[in-house]
Amino acid sequence: MTTIKAEYIWIDGTEPTAKLRSKTKILIGSAPTDVADLPIWGFDGSSTNQAEGHASDRVLKPVFSCPDPIRGGDDILVLCEVLNTDMTPHASNTRAALAEVAERFAAQEPIFGIEQEYTFFKGSRPLGFPEGGFPAAQGGYYCGVGSDEIFGRDVVEAHLENCLKAGLGISGINAEVMPGQWEFQVGPLAPLEVSDQLWVARWLLYRTAEDFDVSATLDPKPVKGDWNGAGAHTNFSTKAMREGYDAIITACEALGEGSKPMDHVKNYGAGIDDRLTGLHETAPWNEYSYGVSDRGASVRIPWQVEKDGKGYIEDRRPNANVDPYTVTRLLVETCCEALEK
Ligand code: ADP
Ligand code: MN
Ligand code: MN
Ligand code: MN
Ligand code: MN
Repeated sequence: MTTIKAEYIWIDGTEPTAKLRSKTKILIGSAPTDVADLPIWGFDGSSTNQAEGHASDRVLKPVFSCPDPIRGGDDILVLCEVLNTDMTPHASNTRAALAEVAERFAAQEPIFGIEQEYTFFKGSRPLGFPEGGFPAAQGGYYCGVGSDEIFGRDVVEAHLENCLKAGLGISGINAEVMPGQWEFQVGPLAPLEVSDQLWVARWLLYRTAEDFDVSATLDPKPVKGDWNGAGAHTNFSTKAMREGYDAIITACEALGEGSKPMDHVKNYGAGIDDRLTGLHETAPWNEYSYGVSDRGASVRIPWQVEKDGKGYIEDRRPNANVDPYTVTRLLVETCCEALEK
């Protein structure tokens, strides 16, 4: 009898930023090809801030699976939603709410590309920061080359390879502005797809770095002071935006209306006011703006999009630690509602 190792991955209830958990289930025989045929499972919610000890069981419902590039062979990764024992979504389950909104606006064909920035740490210092001191100021590190500028490329290459082997929709990687800081992009993909795949890519990042004795963090401001924070720029379009400029402007305006700027920003990741200061290529967290080519605006319209008169917009506000289920839900709700009118 063959056996398969299925790594069941879920998002916990840690406050203010949820974190990934996983455990291994042995499946006897071959793995089902349809994720819906994978068995549900359970875990101790009292150990993940998702239950009290006296009623601790929570349910893992598989929603996305892919080949496990770390174990290889027929082994798989299985991303799950967390349910209560009556099969309703647990309070920490933000995917269920996105699924509803994505279905409601599916006809507008929203797609997303998310730029995930992150920082490697070795012990208590960012990788590349000398013990007890600071490296040369920012300037040469972004998309740099050479051992004086680049720290952790072996880990980054291994992570990229693992994401591709898993079949994730990774679209690129680059070294970032601070030493030890990097970025990968996922998409463009539909809201649920981009979010599921970003969570799995994050899991693979931590898991890959583990083997190099390095940790990765999505901390939005890993080093205080004159160093760039880490964001998750969220690029967004609908069919209408990919076909004409009016829809681009409608989306940018909708994001600035009434309570929308605050509704978004307060759900764009813990510690957002530390990162969106108005310095370091950010707009102040409490002032909404949009502009062509403007990396100091909340929302940027890429120059090529203005030139072509169609394309997508980049919401530059989300923190690296944002929940992709939430940022994609909010963008679809706000922009697709306005575009429907
Ligand atoms: P930046 O210049 O801001 O660093 P990146 O190249 O890192 O941009 O990321 C741009 C992202 O936008 C990519 O993930 C890409 O797939 C995505 N993207 C491109 N076209 C669209 C589109 N029409 N709708 C949504 N996302 C898109
Ligand atoms: Mn046990
Ligand atoms: Mn980028
Ligand atoms: Mn970047
Ligand atoms: Mn960007």
